[in-house]
Amino acid sequence: MIQLYEKLFSELGDQNWWPAETPFEVSVGAILTQQTRWESVERAITNLRKTGLLQPESLAMAKREIVEEQIRCTGFYRQKTERVQEIARYFSKNSNNISKKPTETLRKELLEIKGVGDETADSILLYAAERPKFVIDAYTRRISECIGIRGNYKELQQHFEESIPRDVELYKNFHALIVRYAKEYCNKKRCDECLIQNSMNGTNDHPPETIFKTTISSSDETESSND
Ligand code: SF4
Repeated sequence: MIQLYEKLFSELGDQNWWPAETPFEVSVGAILTQQTRWESVERAITNLRKTGLLQPESLAMAKREIVEEQIRCTGFYRQKTERVQEIARYFSKNSNNISKKPTETLRKELLEIKGVGDETADSILLYAAERPKFVIDAYTRRISECIGIRGNYKELQQHFEESIPRDVELYKNFHALIVRYAKEYCNKKRCDECLIQNSMNGTNDHPPETIFKTTISSSDETESSND
């Protein structure tokens, strides 16, 4: 897997991801980004900031309709309003500080919040709480499959975490590189120009079939299915 990282890094460089001013902003963004484009999330975050709602207490206490208006551009805005207000209540209850919670406690508590599945919880753990949790999303699954690595969420996560140094900044950049590459190549069906398949052929540590017996199910494809 480190060869994959090195290949992507040499092609695309440092991604400096996630662009946010606070852990709370990352967490709100992690909810808003479900099933939408990042550009829409940026607009919604700007709206929330302008209206003073990018703080746990103010967002938790805001009128539902007002929040809906600010995040409408991200789609599923009624559902997402409920979810960001739940996240806001969680941060508020924890004095806007999740930095001292043990990783597994934090993960468990995040997963208890409506709308937070494995991918969202791990995005918050990695990008907001700076914990070494590798995020598995649909892009990661697709690219992994192309290099012969299959598994469910936990299996893929374990594979990444065991194959690369345990380093938060590396995890952050690796995930961001995968997303960027998938948008620029996989989504545009540029498979004949694929940098990954060409460079990884013959360098994978394990024969594909022996890694995981579980195949990727379509129900794992979106965050909402975990919710
Ligand atoms: S560009 Fe095509 S072959 Fe390459 S990783 Fe993406 S989907 Fe797979």
